[in-house]
Amino acid sequence: MSSLLLAIDLEDVRDWVENGTGYREGVPKNTRRYLDHFRRWGVKATFFTVGRVARRYPDLIGEVVAAGHELACHGNVHLQLDKLSPQQFREDLEENMLALRQAGGGEIKGFRAPTFSLTERTAWAYEILADLGFSYSSSVLPAQNPLYGWPSFGHEARKVTKTLWELPITLHRLPGLPVPIAGGVYFRVLPFFLTRWAIGRSIGRGRPMGTYFHPYDIDTEQERFMHPDLGGKHHLNMLMYIGRARLLPRLDVLRRAFLCESYGEYVSRLQTSSS
Ligand SMILES: [Zn+2]
Repeated sequence: MSSLLLAIDLEDVRDWVENGTGYREGVPKNTRRYLDHFRRWGVKATFFTVGRVARRYPDLIGEVVAAGHELACHGNVHLQLDKLSPQQFREDLEENMLALRQAGGGEIKGFRAPTFSLTERTAWAYEILADLGFSYSSSVLPAQNPLYGWPSFGHEARKVTKTLWELPITLHRLPGLPVPIAGGVYFRVLPFFLTRWAIGRSIGRGRPMGTYFHPYDIDTEQERFMHPDLGGKHHLNMLMYIGRARLLPRLDVLRRAFLCESYGEYVSRLQTSSS
């Protein structure tokens, strides 16, 4: 049975903006809004959490764990894999895991590379993840992409080492451009009928639909500043602010229509059915 895999990429967007901490704090309030909705809906999600954020907000991480959600790694300071050597990646990940454990996280099984930066060139990361005891990664964007991407990876979840699964982010082919349709800005900006149809089609074919939402995706009070990875383009930055108020209502419609679960829950079923 396939499902909508709920994921919050728990990071603080102010960390990559010049003088960012001068802006209003958005992570605690908006993460708690997600928690509040998930509790009322009776769904569990994966929180791919940056180490630095766990150190800054240990109480918040404690609340995520106490609510029964899955805690997973998203890099210690959100450095893309091509900026790290294998040894630096291992150290970064160990710091990330330590921060989550100190904030109360138990077993950590999952990893998501910052900006889906795991590509053919950085595939060495899989051996390190397996060695550190991870059982899955959701780090690949399986198409050409201006930032990162691994077109030949394929769209199916598959084992990349003896013990480690990769669940590439689910793409939907818009004319000329495959996009992660249930992720962040795409989820807010594209017409909802299209998103809902694409999710239904994917799940109907037995392929789970991966997601990623950030605290800022629902932050309607955030000040205007230039977001990272947009090359300073103002029209793209404008999109970063569109549709933030409709994200949770849209998710509410979806969770009524589809089975929702965390990545960890889905991977446990994968492991059982493949062993
Ligand atoms: Zn991220």
